[in-house]
Amino acid sequence: MTNNDASKSAANPLSIDNPPTSEGPYQGPIHDPRDEVCNFEILDNFERFNKNNDIYNRGRWDERIMSKKVIDWFRGMYRPDIAARNRDGYTAKDFAFRLGGWVGTNLLIERNIKNGRVDGYQDDIEIYSSVAKHKVEIESPEIMSEELKRVAKLFGAEIIGITSQDERWHYSHWYDADHNAEKPANLPEGLVNTIIIGTTMDHDIIKTYPSATAGTAVGYGYSKDASTMQAVGTFIQGMGYRAVASLNDTAQKVPYAIQAGLGENGRHSMLITPEFGPRVRICQIFTDMPLAHDQPKRWGIKEFCEICNRCAQACPPGAIQEGGPTDQTLNISNQIGIRKWSINNEKCFKFWTNQGTDCGICIRVCPYNMDTSTWLKKKYFRFWVWLAGTHFRRLALWLDVKFIDRERKEPAWWWRGGKDAE
Ligand code: SF4
Ligand code: SF4
Repeated sequence: MTNNDASKSAANPLSIDNPPTSEGPYQGPIHDPRDEVCNFEILDNFERFNKNNDIYNRGRWDERIMSKKVIDWFRGMYRPDIAARNRDGYTAKDFAFRLGGWVGTNLLIERNIKNGRVDGYQDDIEIYSSVAKHKVEIESPEIMSEELKRVAKLFGAEIIGITSQDERWHYSHWYDADHNAEKPANLPEGLVNTIIIGTTMDHDIIKTYPSATAGTAVGYGYSKDASTMQAVGTFIQGMGYRAVASLNDTAQKVPYAIQAGLGENGRHSMLITPEFGPRVRICQIFTDMPLAHDQPKRWGIKEFCEICNRCAQACPPGAIQEGGPTDQTLNISNQIGIRKWSINNEKCFKFWTNQGTDCGICIRVCPYNMDTSTWLKKKYFRFWVWLAGTHFRRLALWLDVKFIDRERKEPAWWWRGGKDAE
């Protein structure tokens, strides 16, 4: 099938009989000089991903995914009482806590709903201020990048990288939530630079996965991202340059973050960073502000994942693959034409909706998920990341298995004060 946006009109909602459009093999350059260091193995049949095929959007149009539990799961993002039950980690208190974490993101999503937009999830995020009429002169892209990073860190960014725009990671089509239909991708042209920002999720709360309590860490990570992006985007537009902010909309974040030198792709299909492991939430800003680029790096994370299967072994529904990266697609939620570790999102999402909340067991058990709350712990983690990237990676794995407690903590443990009370 060829790209034909007009064929998916608002009067033609998505369904199994009217599935998302495929634009076919990508017509732009499929290779980039940075691919090797990024560990991107792009194949000739590479296709850009259609956002309508992601598992959350399939929960709205694909009868194979839709169910009452899925509807309740979406409703539970706004109401704490939907899935609350008399079980530690899933009580009304835990769900209320989780909802509090999501507030910043929910406010962002809701503000443009009346205009037919779902900012941050289906559509890019409208920046608070408009673009100033006059551009502030920029001394050099290098100096501006340093200043921008300083600004972003003050506004909450814990990691930040800058790279060039790469349309391979842009969704080929967006989702029209008003009509449950496909709509054309709509990122303005000329935004040549991409800024990737990451904020951390709380280490102790993650230890309680699976639970609604733990879902607070994810929600609050998103909310921090939403606030940081708005502030950084407002700064850029105030300087007279355009900024389009993006959370789960517009483009895939992990490959962009890898290109910006922030980390590598893990077996669990998440970004693993050398500073905070997989315990980060990332967002991005597309801009025409002149900026210098960071370069991708390797830390030996792929090689470590090859000897470590802990996430695959711990995943309750078996959604994470053992073995090496593959171009095999398990269902339409996997991207075509790229050899990498992908997960079975159908199994993963079913587990989430059965719980009534999200899951992050694969983050909890990942050896790169380390407590970095003190100077000494940070130092140890840096040493461990270095060791895991050498030929002594089996020793690094052994150290983790032997000395780091990765068992689930009861959510009641966190409510009693967590490690601070131990
Ligand atoms: S989030 Fe949970 S269910 Fe999904 S892949 Fe990770 S461990 Fe498996
Ligand atoms: S648990 Fe092990 S295999 Fe899975 S992502 Fe983390 S390091 Fe890689």
